[in-house]
Amino acid sequence: MAGTCLPVIKLNIDPLTLPLALQKAMEALSAGKRAYAVTPNTETALASLADPKLKNVISNAHLSLCDGTGVFLLSRIFSLFNLCRPVKERVCGIDFAEELVKLCSKSGVRVLLWGARPENVKNAAKYLKKKYPGLIIAGLCDGYLPEPVAMRALCCDKPALLLAALGSPKQEYLISELCKKKGPPLFALAVGGAFDVWAGKCKRAPAPLRKLGFEWLWRFACQPFRAKRFLNTFLDALSVLGQQRGKANSQNAPLQKK
Ligand code: UDP
Repeated sequence: MAGTCLPVIKLNIDPLTLPLALQKAMEALSAGKRAYAVTPNTETALASLADPKLKNVISNAHLSLCDGTGVFLLSRIFSLFNLCRPVKERVCGIDFAEELVKLCSKSGVRVLLWGARPENVKNAAKYLKKKYPGLIIAGLCDGYLPEPVAMRALCCDKPALLLAALGSPKQEYLISELCKKKGPPLFALAVGGAFDVWAGKCKRAPAPLRKLGFEWLWRFACQPFRAKRFLNTFLDALSVLGQQRGKANSQNAPLQKK
């Protein structure tokens, strides 16, 4: 997928609208391959600076959609200087996942939910099944089962769409590894805390706040540990950028004569 690379954080993003992203996902589903999609928020984008494995996973994704307001704003600012293509709109992972589930419910695609606490993944499935009665749930796996057990379930249930809600970067690592393995066609999507929201365990920010791009503020207020975690990630990212700059400066400095 030809995306755009955000300067400074060097993150690949596909500047797609929600309908286009859904079209690409449905095409991938019918192409019969193994592929995965990620929806980096600002924290994941910053974390990828200090985590080359995560950056690599995001770069190799079939779709990398802009979930975070910070990522969106950065693309807009850099595009003013022609340094990247602008991202047209934010595509929140949870909205993308639900729209994809809706399309899958109409086309008989088998969906497997993997992640979250056992009661939350069950309730998330109930919510989806009630809203989209045609949906075929191939299986459920909570996010605290040992990985080999979950992987076995995945092999037996043969889903075509896998929603992985295991927190970042675990979910991104796992879906990329899974898609590298040989097996039946699979489209895997990292969905963060979506199951907790569908299960009614977590509330999303009110729609006006979401529209204004302040969902993160709501999450920080509801779960203050996130603000502290974000600050740590931000400081780590700054330190990596500082080191990279220092290296570049020392490489560019003229050789000193002895
Ligand atoms: N989770 C999981 N297994 C783990 C760690 C987390 O299933 O080993 C689930 C957790 O129960 C929650 C989701 O991952 O449902 C975390 O989503 P969130 O978007 O909050 O991810 P984060 O921002 O923490 O990366």
